[in-house]
Amino acid sequence: MVKVVKFGGSSLASAQQFAKVGKIITADKNRRFVVPSAPGKRNSKDTKVTDMLYACYAQAEQDEDFRVSLMKIKDRYDTIINGLNLKLSLADEFAKIEENFKKKAGVDYAASRGEYLNGIIMANYLGFEFIDSAEVIRFDDEGNFDADTTDKILSARLEKVESAVVPGFYGAKADGTIKTFSRGGSDITGSIVAKAVHADCYENWTDVSGFLIADPRIIDDPKPIKTITYRELRELSYMGASVLHEDAVFPVRKAGIPINIRNTNAPEDEGTWIVESTCHQSAYTITGIAGKKGFVSVNIDKDMMNSEVGFGRKVLSAFEENGINFEHMPSGIDTMTIFVHQPEFEGKEQAVISAIHRMAKPDSIEIESDLALIAVVGRGMKSTRGTAGRIFSALAHANVNVKMIDQGSSELNIIIGVKNSDFDSAIKAIYDIFVTTQL
Ligand code: ASP
Repeated sequence: MVKVVKFGGSSLASAQQFAKVGKIITADKNRRFVVPSAPGKRNSKDTKVTDMLYACYAQAEQDEDFRVSLMKIKDRYDTIINGLNLKLSLADEFAKIEENFKKKAGVDYAASRGEYLNGIIMANYLGFEFIDSAEVIRFDDEGNFDADTTDKILSARLEKVESAVVPGFYGAKADGTIKTFSRGGSDITGSIVAKAVHADCYENWTDVSGFLIADPRIIDDPKPIKTITYRELRELSYMGASVLHEDAVFPVRKAGIPINIRNTNAPEDEGTWIVESTCHQSAYTITGIAGKKGFVSVNIDKDMMNSEVGFGRKVLSAFEENGINFEHMPSGIDTMTIFVHQPEFEGKEQAVISAIHRMAKPDSIEIESDLALIAVVGRGMKSTRGTAGRIFSALAHANVNVKMIDQGSSELNIIIGVKNSDFDSAIKAIYDIFVTTQL
């Protein structure tokens, strides 16, 4: 059995946290491949090393003196090294980094040093081999992640080692230029490594015991989710539930490897399992609720719209022409509504309206702003009668006016549009009807 274990920044923010991580890894000999993040925040006022690196490199780019900022970063690492009693010095590494900052090696190079250095410490602490991700995680010339080449290089390299540390967040182009994933991207590295070694499980260790059914800022002490499918997770994370980087599911999903979200500070908790498919029914009809505020609906009216071939295409071209993504598109006989992100749309609204008039010649267009979308997600909904009915009666009791309903054809989710101001009460009402009163 092989497990790939990824540890997030808060799990590696101090020597004490490193020690917890060390215990977790040595407790199970299957935990052979370790993917560390850079040191995160030690407390709420602290700064992540990655952010310190971005700020430090910005100084270098402005030709300002960045040495004090760089030494503060070195201090963070030295405190960890000393706290673990390691005989390790990063002096040469920092001299190289200083030199490369002066040469303006690039913002991705700068940011990646957080994981790189933490990987060196981790490998030294565990007695594992250190593998620089620049050698094994490949990006193409345009800077896009090259999954196939990476899989070939990485699996060949890891086949030869018993146990290794592969830092998260970055890789390199064929010419050696360092490239990072987007923020939080160490989750993606963990997934890539799990696929390359055909792991039985990808453990993603963080500071919470997995996913919760709803956002704890809205619901008091929400119940945890024990098992969730990749598809359910995607629906929820798209709607704002964030524990894992959105792109982290793709590599393992292809290989059918389950992800187990675990808590470094409570290793006895089982956490959440993310799987391709499962016969475990969730305890409730729904698996989770998530939502986002800040949408606009663009309502387009035109008599006889339903018999005009190509009307929808013309309307959508107006959005495409202005580089705007649409989220949902409920329609009636003579009406069609397009939901878009408010911040993306605001600056371009008049250009979009005139483009719709030019292309589709509608009778009228009306815009409503400050709307929120809520996704109620659950694989159990397909086989349960009355789910939609329960949602809408709960919302009616909570005095929430429903602006839009959209049930995905997979019957995995129901999306509800409400006013931003009704967002919290809508989520509470849905949680209560499915979870609190469902005991
Ligand atoms: N250290 C990087 C960040 O802060 C990547 C990661 O932690 O996954 O975004």
